[in-house]
Amino acid sequence: MADMHEAIARRFTNVYICQTCNATNRCGSGKPNKCRKCGGKRFRLKKKKRKSAA
Ligand SMILES: [Zn+2]
Repeated sequence: MADMHEAIARRFTNVYICQTCNATNRCGSGKPNKCRKCGGKRFRLKKKKRKSAA
């Protein structure tokens, strides 16, 4: 259980979406400095998709 939870957390916590161009920016720790595509600095966290068993 813990492993799966951790995997899910890892999958989503370090993924940011650029609010300018919607590009996915993965970052090891914290927010990325700038978008890899447009260089924008506005990000939001990627949201978890709903799964069968929450
Ligand atoms: Zn961007």
